[in-house]
Amino acid sequence: MPGRNFLFVPGPTNTPDRVMRAMHVAMEDHRSSKFPELTMSLFEDLKKVFKTQSGQAFIFPATGTGGWEAALTNTLSPGDKVLSARFGQFSHLWIDLAQRIGLDVEVLDVEWGEGAPPDRIEQVLKADKEHKIKGVMVVHNETATGVASDIAAVRRAMDNAKHPAMLYVDGVSSIGSLDFRMDEWRVDCAIAGSQKGLMLPAGLGIVCASQKALAAREQAKCRRVFFDFGDMIKANATGYFPYTPALPLLYGLREALNVIFEEGLEEIFARHHRLAGGVRAAVEAWGLKLCAKEPKWYSDTVSAIMVPEGINGAHVIDVAFRRYNLALGAGLSKVAGKLFRIGHLGDLNELMVLGAIAGSEMAMADVGIKVKLGSGVGAAAQFYRSTDPVPKKKVSRKEVEYASHSTGSIT
Ligand SMILES: *Cc1c(COP(=O)(O)O)cnc(C)c1O
Repeated sequence: MPGRNFLFVPGPTNTPDRVMRAMHVAMEDHRSSKFPELTMSLFEDLKKVFKTQSGQAFIFPATGTGGWEAALTNTLSPGDKVLSARFGQFSHLWIDLAQRIGLDVEVLDVEWGEGAPPDRIEQVLKADKEHKIKGVMVVHNETATGVASDIAAVRRAMDNAKHPAMLYVDGVSSIGSLDFRMDEWRVDCAIAGSQKGLMLPAGLGIVCASQKALAAREQAKCRRVFFDFGDMIKANATGYFPYTPALPLLYGLREALNVIFEEGLEEIFARHHRLAGGVRAAVEAWGLKLCAKEPKWYSDTVSAIMVPEGINGAHVIDVAFRRYNLALGAGLSKVAGKLFRIGHLGDLNELMVLGAIAGSEMAMADVGIKVKLGSGVGAAAQFYRSTDPVPKKKVSRKEVEYASHSTGSIT
């Protein structure tokens, strides 16, 4: 099809052109004396995105799923008890992985459309007088249902229970797009992937580990080879990897981090909030409901939109793709067919989102959903016109000089 594909799945997201160009590199010796200049800058700058000073960032040639496995196997032993809430396909898959590596998972089932329940977590931890529970696993942003959980509240629940369990957070579809504060929330392992907020192709699983998590390695008996933090720590100390790194992705990550710091993390969070507001205005104008049950659960990176009874959400997605070159996210497992998702994270602006809203309402009308054409686009346009745009970051002289080497495009 002519023109660009409108990629609105919540990962992989659009890769900015300058990040694509940065990945187009000749292969080189990853053991050269120059290579650590790149890698050392990545380890340090990733920590800024996770908002940690004391943590350590690990970059695995993997995906978010590999990050899940690395976090758990490096810090726990088979038979260890962990507590987790299940409220969507990603929390389900992480629990499944934990069980398959031999952990004993106490699952709190929560209705899909809600997030992690701090009060129930607190109750369970309070009742665990012997501190058998070694970890609490939470998906920050449940991409399957468009629900964002309150990680600060989960930390408060753990503190109220005076429980020493470690806190594991899946930030695959939040880190770099939604506010995430590893140190402030005392997260022990935070997991990200390259293909969502970091705007890269899939291929990197990134884990940030706290000092407490790093210390837990000594006792952790889960089998690990490829994902062993110990091998990484040894090689990373001098800027190298224990195996051949994914070079183009590392160069891409360097440029993606430049893009992120030039815009500013706080400005990025505000932009995502604003873009999401337009999508939510459109959903309301269509007379439809989000899967997220209450505004406090609304995700600023993905909206899961319930289709009316008798309509298959997969049909909307297929028509959007075939007729309008628009890729929407599918309903997964329990909510298969019941919804479609608009991913609004990464390298996006208002007009791109309006395009996705336009394509969604055309596809919905095509499959027989009674939406008034233009209603969602109009509501979102009105929202964007009536709310302040995100102010530009005030850049310091130093940053301007630095940026001028990469693109010269900062204003
Ligand atoms: C995408 C995603 C994952 C899985 O990541 P992969 O990179 O596909 O392995 C895990 N958790 C969440 C919340 C996600 O959105």
